[in-house]
Amino acid sequence: TATPLGHSVIPMVNKLQDIFAQLGSTSVIELPQVAVVGSQSSGKSSVLEALVGRDFLPRGSEICTRRPLVLQLVQTKRKPDGTEEEYGEFLHLPKKRFYDFSDIRREIQAETERQAGGNKGVSDRQIRLKIYSPKVLDITLVDLPGITKVPVGDQPSDIEARIRTMILSYIKHPSCLILAVTPANSDLGNSDALQIAGTADPDGYRTIGVITKLDIMDRGTDARNFLLGKVIPLRLGYVGVVNRSQEDIIQNRSIKDALVYEENFFRSHPVYNGLADRCGIPQLAKKLNQILIQHIKTVLPALKSRISSALVAVAKEHASYGEISESKAGQGALLLNILTKYSEAFASIVEGKNEQMSTS
Ligand code: GDP
Ligand code: MG
Repeated sequence: TATPLGHSVIPMVNKLQDIFAQLGSTSVIELPQVAVVGSQSSGKSSVLEALVGRDFLPRGSEICTRRPLVLQLVQTKRKPDGTEEEYGEFLHLPKKRFYDFSDIRREIQAETERQAGGNKGVSDRQIRLKIYSPKVLDITLVDLPGITKVPVGDQPSDIEARIRTMILSYIKHPSCLILAVTPANSDLGNSDALQIAGTADPDGYRTIGVITKLDIMDRGTDARNFLLGKVIPLRLGYVGVVNRSQEDIIQNRSIKDALVYEENFFRSHPVYNGLADRCGIPQLAKKLNQILIQHIKTVLPALKSRISSALVAVAKEHASYGEISESKAGQGALLLNILTKYSEAFASIVEGKNEQMSTS
Protein backbone atom coordinates (compact mmCIF):
# COMPACT_ATOMS: atom_id res chain seq x y z
CA THR A 1 0.00 0.00 0.00
CA ALA A 2 1.13 3.52 -0.80
CA THR A 3 1.59 6.30 1.70
CA PRO A 4 -1.48 8.52 2.21
CA LEU A 5 0.10 11.21 0.08
CA GLY A 6 0.13 9.81 -3.42
CA HIS A 7 -2.19 6.87 -2.94
CA SER A 8 -4.28 7.71 -5.98
CA VAL A 9 -1.61 9.60 -7.88
CA ILE A 10 1.14 6.99 -8.01
CA PRO A 11 -0.63 4.60 -10.40
CA MET A 12 -1.25 7.41 -12.89
CA VAL A 13 2.24 8.81 -12.70
CA ASN A 14 3.60 5.31 -13.17
CA LYS A 15 1.48 4.77 -16.27
CA LEU A 16 2.60 8.04 -17.78
CA GLN A 17 6.16 7.23 -16.96
CA ASP A 18 5.81 3.87 -18.71
CA ILE A 19 4.53 5.60 -21.81
CA PHE A 20 7.42 8.05 -21.83
CA ALA A 21 9.93 5.37 -21.08
CA GLN A 22 8.92 3.82 -24.40
CA LEU A 23 9.79 7.12 -26.01
CA GLY A 24 13.18 6.99 -24.40
CA SER A 25 12.63 9.91 -22.05
CA THR A 26 12.07 9.96 -18.31
CA SER A 27 10.84 12.19 -15.53
CA VAL A 28 8.11 13.89 -17.48
CA ILE A 29 6.04 15.35 -14.71
CA GLU A 30 7.35 17.74 -12.19
CA LEU A 31 4.98 17.89 -9.29
CA PRO A 32 4.66 21.02 -7.18
CA GLN A 33 6.51 21.23 -3.88
CA VAL A 34 4.46 21.16 -0.70
CA ALA A 35 5.53 23.40 2.18
CA VAL A 36 4.09 23.69 5.68
CA VAL A 37 3.83 27.10 7.32
CA GLY A 38 2.51 28.35 10.63
CA SER A 39 3.45 29.41 14.09
CA GLN A 40 5.84 27.43 16.22
CA SER A 41 4.40 24.21 17.66
CA SER A 42 1.24 24.49 15.57
CA GLY A 43 1.77 20.90 14.40
CA LYS A 44 3.51 21.38 11.04
CA SER A 45 6.00 18.55 11.40
CA SER A 46 3.28 16.30 12.76
CA VAL A 47 1.12 16.92 9.69
CA LEU A 48 3.97 16.18 7.28
CA GLU A 49 4.88 12.99 9.07
CA ALA A 50 1.31 11.78 9.04
CA LEU A 51 1.09 12.46 5.30
CA VAL A 52 4.25 10.46 4.65
CA GLY A 53 3.11 7.78 7.09
CA ARG A 54 6.50 7.35 8.77
CA ASP A 55 7.99 8.61 12.02
CA PHE A 56 11.17 10.52 11.31
CA LEU A 57 10.77 14.22 12.05
CA PRO A 58 11.70 15.92 15.30
CA ARG A 59 8.48 17.09 16.95
CA GLY A 60 7.83 18.66 20.30
CA SER A 61 6.41 21.40 22.42
CA GLU A 62 9.51 23.58 22.11
CA ILE A 63 11.15 24.79 18.93
CA CYS A 64 12.22 21.62 17.08
CA THR A 65 12.41 22.50 13.42
CA ARG A 66 15.22 25.04 13.32
CA ARG A 67 16.44 24.63 9.77
CA PRO A 68 14.40 24.12 6.62
CA LEU A 69 14.17 20.41 5.88
CA VAL A 70 13.79 19.67 2.20
CA LEU A 71 12.44 16.18 2.00
CA GLN A 72 12.54 14.55 -1.37
CA LEU A 73 10.51 11.37 -1.72
CA VAL A 74 11.89 9.07 -4.39
CA GLN A 75 9.94 6.13 -5.68
CA THR A 76 12.02 2.99 -6.08
CA LYS A 77 11.20 -0.37 -7.57
CA ARG A 78 10.22 -3.24 -5.36
CA LYS A 79 12.99 -5.83 -5.10
CA PRO A 80 12.68 -8.87 -7.37
CA ASP A 81 11.62 -11.03 -4.42
CA GLY A 82 8.77 -8.59 -3.70
CA THR A 83 10.23 -7.13 -0.54
CA GLU A 84 10.24 -3.42 0.03
CA GLU A 85 13.31 -1.51 0.94
CA GLU A 86 12.90 1.93 2.48
CA TYR A 87 15.76 4.13 3.51
CA GLY A 88 16.84 7.72 3.90
CA GLU A 89 19.94 9.51 2.69
CA PHE A 90 21.16 12.98 3.61
CA LEU A 91 22.94 15.29 1.21
CA HIS A 92 25.50 16.03 3.92
CA LEU A 93 26.23 12.31 4.41
CA PRO A 94 26.40 10.95 0.90
CA LYS A 95 26.22 7.18 0.49
CA LYS A 96 25.18 6.53 4.07
CA ARG A 97 21.85 4.76 4.05
CA PHE A 98 19.54 5.09 7.05
CA TYR A 99 17.23 2.11 7.31
CA ASP A 100 16.05 2.92 10.82
CA PHE A 101 13.80 5.96 10.70
CA SER A 102 14.52 6.93 14.29
CA ASP A 103 18.17 7.24 13.25
CA ILE A 104 16.99 9.68 10.59
CA ARG A 105 15.34 11.77 13.28
CA ARG A 106 18.49 11.70 15.39
CA GLU A 107 20.59 12.79 12.43
CA ILE A 108 18.21 15.68 11.66
CA GLN A 109 18.61 16.78 15.27
CA ALA A 110 22.39 16.41 15.20
CA GLU A 111 22.72 18.23 11.89
CA THR A 112 20.41 21.00 13.14
CA GLU A 113 22.75 21.51 16.09
CA ARG A 114 25.86 21.50 13.90
CA GLN A 115 24.60 24.52 12.02
CA ALA A 116 22.22 26.26 14.40
CA GLY A 117 23.81 25.37 17.74
CA GLY A 118 22.26 23.70 20.74
CA ASN A 119 20.39 26.67 22.13
CA LYS A 120 17.25 27.23 20.02
CA GLY A 121 19.12 29.03 17.25
CA VAL A 122 17.57 29.03 13.79
CA SER A 123 19.40 28.82 10.48
CA ASP A 124 18.19 29.18 6.92
CA ARG A 125 20.66 26.57 5.68
CA GLN A 126 18.73 23.60 4.39
CA ILE A 127 18.96 20.04 5.51
CA ARG A 128 18.30 17.88 2.47
CA LEU A 129 16.96 14.40 2.97
CA LYS A 130 15.86 11.85 0.41
CA ILE A 131 13.60 9.00 1.33
CA TYR A 132 13.65 6.07 -1.07
CA SER A 133 10.68 3.77 -1.04
CA PRO A 134 8.46 1.85 -3.48
CA LYS A 135 5.45 3.31 -1.68
CA VAL A 136 5.98 7.01 -2.23
CA LEU A 137 5.21 9.54 -4.90
CA ASP A 138 8.13 11.51 -6.34
CA ILE A 139 7.46 14.76 -4.62
CA THR A 140 9.31 17.30 -2.48
CA LEU A 141 7.98 18.35 0.91
CA VAL A 142 9.43 21.20 2.91
CA ASP A 143 9.28 21.36 6.70
CA LEU A 144 9.95 24.88 7.91
CA PRO A 145 10.70 26.52 11.25
CA GLY A 146 7.59 28.11 12.72
CA ILE A 147 6.89 31.78 13.19
CA THR A 148 7.95 32.90 16.64
CA LYS A 149 7.63 36.36 18.17
CA VAL A 150 9.75 36.46 21.28
CA PRO A 151 13.45 35.61 20.88
CA VAL A 152 14.68 32.84 23.20
CA GLY A 153 18.08 31.20 23.64
CA ASP A 154 20.50 32.15 20.87
CA GLN A 155 17.81 33.71 18.71
CA PRO A 156 18.50 37.25 17.48
CA SER A 157 16.12 40.08 18.33
CA ASP A 158 14.75 40.13 14.77
CA ILE A 159 13.94 36.42 14.82
CA GLU A 160 10.36 36.91 13.65
CA ALA A 161 11.36 38.91 10.56
CA ARG A 162 14.10 36.42 9.72
CA ILE A 163 11.80 33.44 9.92
CA ARG A 164 9.15 35.18 7.85
CA THR A 165 11.70 35.97 5.16
CA MET A 166 12.87 32.35 5.19
CA ILE A 167 9.32 31.01 4.88
CA LEU A 168 8.47 33.43 2.08
CA SER A 169 11.54 32.40 0.10
CA TYR A 170 9.92 28.96 -0.19
CA ILE A 171 6.25 29.75 -0.57
CA LYS A 172 6.62 32.67 -2.98
CA HIS A 173 7.19 30.25 -5.88
CA PRO A 174 3.96 30.05 -7.85
CA SER A 175 4.21 26.28 -8.02
CA CYS A 176 4.54 25.72 -4.27
CA LEU A 177 1.50 24.28 -2.52
CA ILE A 178 1.09 25.78 0.93
CA LEU A 179 -0.28 23.91 3.91
CA ALA A 180 -1.22 26.72 6.27
CA VAL A 181 -1.28 25.07 9.69
CA THR A 182 -3.27 26.71 12.49
CA PRO A 183 -3.80 25.09 15.90
CA ALA A 184 -7.44 25.03 16.98
CA ASN A 185 -6.55 25.93 20.54
CA SER A 186 -5.40 29.40 19.46
CA ASP A 187 -7.31 32.38 18.12
CA LEU A 188 -8.18 30.97 14.72
CA GLY A 189 -9.03 34.36 13.28
CA ASN A 190 -5.50 35.54 14.06
CA SER A 191 -3.69 32.77 12.25
CA ASP A 192 -0.03 33.49 11.44
CA ALA A 193 -0.19 30.70 8.89
CA LEU A 194 -3.06 32.18 6.92
CA GLN A 195 -1.53 35.62 7.17
CA ILE A 196 1.80 34.60 5.67
CA ALA A 197 0.21 32.28 3.12
CA GLY A 198 -1.98 35.20 2.06
CA THR A 199 1.09 37.31 1.42
CA ALA A 200 2.50 34.75 -0.99
CA ASP A 201 -0.78 33.55 -2.47
CA PRO A 202 -3.27 36.40 -2.14
CA ASP A 203 -5.90 34.74 -4.33
CA GLY A 204 -5.67 31.47 -2.47
CA TYR A 205 -5.08 29.25 -5.47
CA ARG A 206 -2.49 27.09 -3.74
CA THR A 207 -3.19 27.34 -0.04
CA ILE A 208 -4.91 24.60 1.95
CA GLY A 209 -5.96 25.47 5.49
CA VAL A 210 -5.09 22.81 8.05
CA ILE A 211 -6.56 23.09 11.55
CA THR A 212 -4.65 20.94 14.05
CA LYS A 213 -5.29 20.08 17.72
CA LEU A 214 -9.07 19.85 17.40
CA ASP A 215 -8.85 17.47 20.36
CA ILE A 216 -7.64 20.14 22.77
CA MET A 217 -9.89 23.07 22.02
CA ASP A 218 -11.39 24.97 24.88
CA ARG A 219 -14.44 23.11 26.17
CA GLY A 220 -17.60 24.46 24.61
CA THR A 221 -15.87 25.74 21.50
CA ASP A 222 -15.42 24.04 18.16
CA ALA A 223 -13.96 24.81 14.75
CA ARG A 224 -17.03 24.07 12.69
CA ASN A 225 -17.48 27.54 11.20
CA PHE A 226 -13.80 27.75 10.52
CA LEU A 227 -13.73 24.43 8.71
CA LEU A 228 -16.72 25.58 6.68
CA GLY A 229 -14.76 28.65 5.59
CA LYS A 230 -17.22 31.02 7.24
CA VAL A 231 -14.55 32.86 9.21
CA ILE A 232 -11.75 33.22 6.68
CA PRO A 233 -12.83 31.88 3.30
CA LEU A 234 -10.22 29.90 1.43
CA ARG A 235 -10.66 28.76 -2.13
CA LEU A 236 -9.20 25.29 -1.53
CA GLY A 237 -10.86 24.97 1.85
CA TYR A 238 -9.85 23.57 5.19
CA VAL A 239 -9.16 20.18 6.73
CA GLY A 240 -9.22 19.60 10.48
CA VAL A 241 -6.86 17.00 11.95
CA VAL A 242 -5.91 15.38 15.22
CA ASN A 243 -2.27 14.41 15.51
CA ARG A 244 -0.32 12.88 18.34
CA SER A 245 0.01 14.86 21.55
CA GLN A 246 3.26 15.42 23.39
CA GLU A 247 2.28 12.57 25.72
CA ASP A 248 1.78 10.29 22.71
CA ILE A 249 5.26 11.22 21.51
CA ILE A 250 6.78 10.40 24.89
CA GLN A 251 4.93 7.08 24.90
CA ASN A 252 6.02 6.31 21.34
CA ARG A 253 2.52 5.95 20.02
CA SER A 254 2.59 4.76 16.41
CA ILE A 255 1.18 6.66 13.44
CA LYS A 256 -1.19 3.80 12.80
CA ASP A 257 -2.68 4.00 16.29
CA ALA A 258 -2.88 7.76 15.97
CA LEU A 259 -4.90 7.46 12.76
CA VAL A 260 -7.33 5.07 14.42
CA TYR A 261 -7.68 7.47 17.33
CA GLU A 262 -8.27 10.36 14.94
CA GLU A 263 -10.94 8.48 13.04
CA ASN A 264 -12.78 7.62 16.25
CA PHE A 265 -12.49 11.17 17.48
CA PHE A 266 -14.21 12.58 14.42
CA ARG A 267 -16.77 9.81 14.25
CA SER A 268 -17.87 10.26 17.82
CA HIS A 269 -17.81 14.04 17.92
CA PRO A 270 -21.30 15.40 17.15
CA VAL A 271 -19.98 18.67 15.70
CA TYR A 272 -17.58 17.07 13.22
CA ASN A 273 -19.74 14.11 12.44
CA GLY A 274 -21.42 15.88 9.55
CA LEU A 275 -18.16 17.30 8.21
CA ALA A 276 -16.47 14.04 7.35
CA ASP A 277 -15.07 15.38 4.08
CA ARG A 278 -13.21 18.11 5.96
CA CYS A 279 -11.82 16.05 8.80
CA GLY A 280 -8.82 13.79 9.18
CA ILE A 281 -5.37 13.16 7.74
CA PRO A 282 -6.80 10.81 5.05
CA GLN A 283 -9.01 13.66 3.84
CA LEU A 284 -6.06 16.02 3.74
CA ALA A 285 -4.13 13.47 1.71
CA LYS A 286 -7.11 13.09 -0.60
CA LYS A 287 -7.35 16.82 -1.13
CA LEU A 288 -3.65 17.04 -1.93
CA ASN A 289 -3.85 14.05 -4.23
CA GLN A 290 -6.70 15.64 -6.13
CA ILE A 291 -4.73 18.85 -6.54
CA LEU A 292 -1.75 16.87 -7.83
CA ILE A 293 -3.96 14.98 -10.26
CA GLN A 294 -5.40 18.27 -11.43
CA HIS A 295 -1.87 19.50 -11.94
CA ILE A 296 -0.98 16.45 -14.00
CA LYS A 297 -4.09 16.95 -16.04
CA THR A 298 -3.03 20.52 -16.73
CA VAL A 299 0.40 19.50 -17.98
CA LEU A 300 -0.88 16.61 -20.13
CA PRO A 301 -1.60 18.71 -23.24
CA ALA A 302 1.96 20.05 -23.15
CA LEU A 303 3.25 16.49 -22.89
CA LYS A 304 1.11 15.46 -25.80
CA SER A 305 2.31 18.34 -27.95
CA ARG A 306 5.88 17.40 -27.12
CA ILE A 307 5.21 14.01 -28.59
CA SER A 308 3.42 15.52 -31.57
CA SER A 309 6.37 17.73 -32.43
CA ALA A 310 8.69 14.77 -32.02
CA LEU A 311 6.43 13.01 -34.51
CA VAL A 312 6.60 15.87 -36.97
CA ALA A 313 10.36 15.75 -36.74
CA VAL A 314 10.31 12.03 -37.38
CA ALA A 315 8.00 12.53 -40.36
CA LYS A 316 10.33 15.13 -41.86
CA GLU A 317 13.26 12.84 -41.36
CA HIS A 318 11.22 10.14 -42.98
CA ALA A 319 10.52 12.35 -46.01
CA SER A 320 14.17 13.09 -46.55
CA TYR A 321 15.57 9.64 -45.94
CA GLY A 322 12.80 7.52 -47.36
CA GLU A 323 12.43 3.99 -46.10
CA ILE A 324 15.04 4.06 -43.36
CA SER A 325 13.06 5.74 -40.60
CA GLU A 326 9.70 4.30 -41.47
CA SER A 327 9.75 2.01 -38.48
CA LYS A 328 10.66 4.93 -36.27
CA ALA A 329 7.72 7.00 -37.54
CA GLY A 330 5.41 4.06 -37.09
CA GLN A 331 6.62 3.65 -33.57
CA GLY A 332 6.07 7.36 -32.84
CA ALA A 333 2.51 7.25 -34.17
CA LEU A 334 1.82 4.19 -32.09
CA LEU A 335 3.08 5.92 -28.97
CA LEU A 336 1.05 9.04 -29.68
CA ASN A 337 -1.94 6.81 -30.04
CA ILE A 338 -1.24 5.17 -26.70
CA LEU A 339 -0.77 8.52 -25.02
CA THR A 340 -3.97 9.94 -26.49
CA LYS A 341 -5.95 6.91 -25.35
CA TYR A 342 -4.37 7.06 -21.97
CA SER A 343 -5.00 10.75 -21.50
CA GLU A 344 -8.64 10.29 -22.45
CA ALA A 345 -9.01 7.54 -19.89
CA PHE A 346 -7.12 9.71 -17.50
CA ALA A 347 -9.39 12.71 -18.04
CA SER A 348 -12.45 10.60 -17.43
CA ILE A 349 -11.01 9.45 -14.13
CA VAL A 350 -10.26 13.01 -13.10
CA GLU A 351 -13.62 14.38 -14.10
CA GLY A 352 -16.03 11.68 -13.22
CA LYS A 353 -14.87 9.22 -10.69
CA ASN A 354 -13.19 10.95 -7.81
CA GLU A 355 -14.75 8.47 -5.45
CA GLN A 356 -12.25 5.89 -6.62
CA MET A 357 -9.45 8.08 -5.41
CA SER A 358 -10.16 7.43 -1.78
CA THR A 359 -6.98 7.53 0.23
CA SER A 360 -8.05 5.12 2.91
P1 GDP B 1 5.64 22.33 14.65
O1 GDP B 1 6.51 23.14 15.56
O2 GDP B 1 4.60 23.19 14.02
O3 GDP B 1 6.37 21.49 13.67
O4 GDP B 1 4.79 21.36 15.61
P2 GDP B 1 5.06 19.84 16.01
O5 GDP B 1 4.56 18.93 14.95
O6 GDP B 1 6.47 19.69 16.47
O7 GDP B 1 4.06 19.71 17.24
C1 GDP B 1 4.17 20.54 18.37
C2 GDP B 1 3.52 19.89 19.58
O8 GDP B 1 2.12 19.83 19.41
C3 GDP B 1 3.99 18.46 19.81
O9 GDP B 1 4.09 18.25 21.19
C4 GDP B 1 2.86 17.62 19.23
O10 GDP B 1 2.74 16.39 19.89
C5 GDP B 1 1.65 18.48 19.53
N1 GDP B 1 0.58 18.30 18.56
C6 GDP B 1 0.63 18.47 17.20
N2 GDP B 1 -0.56 18.23 16.65
C7 GDP B 1 -1.41 17.91 17.65
C8 GDP B 1 -2.82 17.58 17.71
O11 GDP B 1 -3.54 17.53 16.68
N3 GDP B 1 -3.33 17.30 18.96
C9 GDP B 1 -2.58 17.37 20.09
N4 GDP B 1 -3.17 17.07 21.26
N5 GDP B 1 -1.27 17.68 20.07
C10 GDP B 1 -0.69 17.96 18.87
MG1 MG C 1 8.34 21.45 13.24
